[in-house]
Amino acid sequence: MATGAEPLILVVEDEASQRQVLAYNLGAKGYRVVTAATGDEALLLIDEEMPDLIILDWMLPEVSGIEICRRVKLRDDTRDIPVIMLSARAEESDRVRGLETGADDYVTKPYSVSELMARVKTNLRRVRKAIEGQVLSFGNIRLDAEQHRVYHADTPIHLGPTEFRLLQVLLERPGRVLSREQLLDRVWGRDVYVDTRTVDVHIGRLRKALRGAGGSDPIRTVRGAGYALG
Ligand code: CA
Repeated sequence: MATGAEPLILVVEDEASQRQVLAYNLGAKGYRVVTAATGDEALLLIDEEMPDLIILDWMLPEVSGIEICRRVKLRDDTRDIPVIMLSARAEESDRVRGLETGADDYVTKPYSVSELMARVKTNLRRVRKAIEGQVLSFGNIRLDAEQHRVYHADTPIHLGPTEFRLLQVLLERPGRVLSREQLLDRVWGRDVYVDTRTVDVHIGRLRKALRGAGGSDPIRTVRGAGYALG
């Protein structure tokens, strides 16, 4: 999110008209948007797309918004995704319950679209600040996002902007297999046409740079699936 692709927002809302209004407005603000009409669909998309923020309706058929929020906040690889809960229930006890399941924000229906857009921006900024101030590490490799530097032990490693971003995306989710398509979305952005083989080329460069700095190569190729760290 720090560079490259625009943030990806997942809208989970069972009412088609509301879903469309949100998708349209988010798109107009320059965000990338995916939508889900049910809880099951939402859980699949969270896995596949790894959104940067989730707008989540409380009242959904099958799996409720509260349940989805709880699951997102239980998982190590998704808990930092901000969740804005939408609810038609204005009672204070509902608000408390929503926030207790780990929702980062709570908006009561009917909401003003512009206010919701402002909340999206605020929540994304909060996360981005946390990410930018973060030092990510894996083994002897350390990535300082704020300083835009990478080290092996204490030796600086020089990376191009694409390799830097690739490493950052991998470090944010160690152990998790990322497909070439997911890496393309995260590093290059969804609207850019880049061949998936380009990912392999840049992974190759990243590996070479890491090895060149005296480190081992921590990137694992998962046949038919993609790449993972460790
Ligand atoms: Ca609903």
